[in-house]
Amino acid sequence: MTPPAEPVIGVLALQGDVREHLITLAGCGVVARPVRRPAELDGLAGIVLPGGESTTIDKLSRIFELRDPLVAALRAGLPAFGSCAGMILLADRVLDGRPDQQTFGGLDVTVRRNAFGRQVDSFETDIEMTGLDGGPVHAVFIRAPWVEQVGEGVEVLGRVSHDAPSGADDRIVAVRQGALLATSFHPEVTGDPRVHEVFVAMVRERS
Ligand code: GLN
Repeated sequence: MTPPAEPVIGVLALQGDVREHLITLAGCGVVARPVRRPAELDGLAGIVLPGGESTTIDKLSRIFELRDPLVAALRAGLPAFGSCAGMILLADRVLDGRPDQQTFGGLDVTVRRNAFGRQVDSFETDIEMTGLDGGPVHAVFIRAPWVEQVGEGVEVLGRVSHDAPSGADDRIVAVRQGALLATSFHPEVTGDPRVHEVFVAMVRERS
């Protein structure tokens, strides 16, 4: 069978801002489709785990019996990009999670959930991100996690800049490890496709 000309990238569509990722991916010249059922993992060259509520996505993934095949696909090297809740779901370790909360894991980091605090639930700032041409990326943080500790194989790609709310300066908010990419912020809501383009390039490298 001839492989499709463009890679197919799935967006985990159990909860969260699925539509924004689908639109941004389609703008990057790949075929993007929602994933709700285990069979919809077949044929994917990569998957995006969207922002939303990590505890809800975790629960629904178990109810929909998607968790085990997704974890297996990630362990087998399926490239993945997680934004915000998606970053939490990729992390091996979570602080301030719910006691019963599970992640898919794979990314050797510790993230702190809702780390930027209640008063500053949402803020926007510009981030210098390694690997992005064309200047800083505008980063939108919505009840976002930060990365508190990274393992040896993890490359730090971005930190919050100095005009972020007090106490938040210099926290790690973008990382990559092998085929896994994660940001604390939501590049899918700004109309700037560069972070998704980095992910698409990772997917193309792999496939
Ligand atoms: N606070 C959410 C969580 O713990 C993440 C928020 C987001 O994805 N915008 O999952």
